[in-house]
Amino acid sequence: MKKFRPQPGFVVQAYRFALDPNAAQEHALRSHCGAARAAYNWAVGWVEASWWQRRAEESYGIAEEQLTQWRPWSLPSLRKAFNEGKHTDPRFAAWWEENSKEAYSTGLANAAAAFDNYAKSKQGKRRGRKMGAPRFKSKRKARLSCRFTTGTIRVEAGGRHVTLPRLGTIRVHEPTVKLLDRVRAGTARILSATVRHERGRWFVSFQAEVERDLDRVARPDASVGIDLGVKTLAVMADSTGEIRTVPNPNHYDRARKQLRRASRTVSRRQRPDRRTGQKPSKRWEKANAARNKVHHRVADLREDALHKLTTAVAAEYGTVVIEDLNVAGMLRNRRLARRIADAGFGEIRRHLDYKTRQRHATRTIVADRWYPSSKTCSGCGAVKAKLPLHIRTYECDACHLVIDRDDNAALNLAALAAAVVTGTGVAGDQDTAPAVSKPRGADQKTRATRTRRKASAGRAGGATLPHQRQTETRDRTQAEALLLW
Ligand SMILES: [Zn+2]
Repeated sequence: MKKFRPQPGFVVQAYRFALDPNAAQEHALRSHCGAARAAYNWAVGWVEASWWQRRAEESYGIAEEQLTQWRPWSLPSLRKAFNEGKHTDPRFAAWWEENSKEAYSTGLANAAAAFDNYAKSKQGKRRGRKMGAPRFKSKRKARLSCRFTTGTIRVEAGGRHVTLPRLGTIRVHEPTVKLLDRVRAGTARILSATVRHERGRWFVSFQAEVERDLDRVARPDASVGIDLGVKTLAVMADSTGEIRTVPNPNHYDRARKQLRRASRTVSRRQRPDRRTGQKPSKRWEKANAARNKVHHRVADLREDALHKLTTAVAAEYGTVVIEDLNVAGMLRNRRLARRIADAGFGEIRRHLDYKTRQRHATRTIVADRWYPSSKTCSGCGAVKAKLPLHIRTYECDACHLVIDRDDNAALNLAALAAAVVTGTGVAGDQDTAPAVSKPRGADQKTRATRTRRKASAGRAGGATLPHQRQTETRDRTQAEALLLW
């Protein structure tokens, strides 16, 4: 699908509200999301049927050009085939009318996108990890979600209800005034709405085209480098040399402790087991609900802290520099996964990118992944060959500067801004952001001194390819670096 390109002055923005559906509405929400999943699975099966047909023909020795054609997976062709078959298909005939057609469109559009991604990945036209062929979504694992693009989608006048096609008017947990005011003033137009079930709650997210005046940043000439931490949320250094440490949100550690406790309680009670057909006990259900509630709070605290940090940073500085951390790679490391996911590195970067761009027309620069922010002296620019991870204070051999390790890294990132401000002036989309590469002739980041070969060999259950091990080690090095900062 084509990326939406708004006109200048307009941005596409999401407004998200927690829903408070009644029992009938909750049922309808589940039904719609289930319908989206069923349509997705139908599309995957329908397209793949032609693949199996081809396989069979190949086994009879039929020539390549005479094989059955792949069935087209564009959204219009999927929609056409689905609409022709839904009246008679035993999987849909009895109940397809119960849900909005948008539910089926959601599934078909997702399937079309999945096949597109698979094809592009196979042809080498897609960046990132290799995509497999789309697979069926399981009823138990699939995230419940459904998107509405047409029909009655609006926020109600009282500011406490929203209306969605077929689902009707649903109460929300929080006032919708921010969006409502804009819609009334004619500065926002709702494009679509997505309902989603997350951690035991339903949410609706409105995508709206919003006319925004750009806000001037407080210090347009200043730049800031942000070094993301684990023990603290972040260390920031600006171009005047001022350093600020941003702590983790209040109550955060306490909430996490509560979460651990709640999880322990859940695990002691009789849980559902599919293999034996065991039903969960009432006590398990109660404990699980309690755990979900704490879970929600931890996630909310984190989200709130990230938004406050990124909003403030975007409103203050003309240029923001942030490190490119290999988040996906680090998340594969189990020991650190939680801490890194908690700190929400990917989120910080995403927030900064859109907030600087959409609200202030400033930019976020993403430093090269191997830029040695920790090993470079922020005073004279000398680069250490090695800086073991446990050393928390940077001492320069050339100019004898002594500085905290994190502060030094943040200062280096801030200094990077000056190096690129003169370069291409396009604001940093993830794709267009200039990656700043080794301005001081530096090499890679410190490799891990201790590598846990044993663990990785045991996990793979066989020989690891040399390049594979190298990447793993590299991911782990960064992850370890984060832990020790
Ligand atoms: Zn120095």
